[in-house]
Amino acid sequence: MSTTLQDLRPTPKTGLLDIAAYVPGKEHAHGVAKVYKLSSNESPLGASKLAIEAFGAAARNLEMYPDGQANALKQAIAEVHGLNAGNILCGNGSDELLGLLCQTYLAPGDEAIYTEHGFMVYKIYIMAAGGTPVVAREKNEQAEVDAILNAVTTRTKIVFLANPNNPTGTYLPFEEVRRLHAGLPKNVLLVLDAAYAEYVRRNDYESGVELVSSSENVVMTRTFSKIHGLAALRIGWMFAPAHVVDAVNRIRGPFNLNSAAILAGAAAIRDRGHVDQAIAFNEKWLPWLTEQLTELGLRVTPSVGNFLLVHFPDDSAKSAEAADAYLTSKGYILRRVAGYGFPNALRLTIGSEEANRGVVAALSEFLK
Ligand SMILES: *Cc1c(COP(=O)(O)O)cnc(C)c1O
Repeated sequence: MSTTLQDLRPTPKTGLLDIAAYVPGKEHAHGVAKVYKLSSNESPLGASKLAIEAFGAAARNLEMYPDGQANALKQAIAEVHGLNAGNILCGNGSDELLGLLCQTYLAPGDEAIYTEHGFMVYKIYIMAAGGTPVVAREKNEQAEVDAILNAVTTRTKIVFLANPNNPTGTYLPFEEVRRLHAGLPKNVLLVLDAAYAEYVRRNDYESGVELVSSSENVVMTRTFSKIHGLAALRIGWMFAPAHVVDAVNRIRGPFNLNSAAILAGAAAIRDRGHVDQAIAFNEKWLPWLTEQLTELGLRVTPSVGNFLLVHFPDDSAKSAEAADAYLTSKGYILRRVAGYGFPNALRLTIGSEEANRGVVAALSEFLK
């Protein structure tokens, strides 16, 4: 009998090594006086002062386990959003919840759908659960309901829709989300990832609260990493039917949120003034950057989030890769998005005024 690698050392389960690890946005640029990190959609306003204070207070009881139910945080979310706390489950970032949903509903052979330029994390968690990722085409960098519905088979268990989507910044009007839901079999879970919901200023947008409340197969996920400026603490939550909360709750880590996250998150969500400031800031600079970059001759996908997808000319000297190298040399770090099906685009997070003005000036130089 021949000896195989499997006999010589532990090997990951089937399919696991087919997963490509998530590549986060770059952080460093060398040899520049100042670095502007515009690669991870972090808030240029930082966290609420009240959240920072609450974080400090957590230092007094580091010997104690956190509240495994994260009740203080759930209560705050429920209060601010007018929801029933029993339908909320918190996670170590919304990423954790997306993974737990896959572990809960996908067995090997099951399929889960996401869209062509959808968030990369979905694919990782689908495959980690042994599921088969199925990609639905987009049209004009926008999710398309009919393409998603056409991808549904008897093996489909989950549909992921980031609304608005990252990295495109486009969104589906809620009528379209309702049409998607109406077309799905009742046993398929529709996961609405509303990480950027607070930024959207459109009358035809909804994050999904009503649809979750009025059905048994819709979940909405949210995060504290974006508008609340708490990415470092890893806080996400989902609003879901009771039977989904119950199922996912059985497999989550017993203390999946740490005490600092629970306290700072509760303070952050109650600080409506800080959230409003972040919304107003984005409302000013998102259109400004869109206009400036368009005037430079770059195509910008219309975005409702806190970031822009910027497309570069076919000319190799002016490509996204060349722009990335040039901008990095000036201290401006943007996100390469080749892995999302955009080999010649960069994603730019709306930054501080200084960063926004600087990146436009640098791009103007680059394109000369
Ligand atoms: C940033 C982001 C999240 C948030 O992830 P966290 O784990 O909560 O930090 C979720 N979905 C999308 C589409 C995102 O861009």
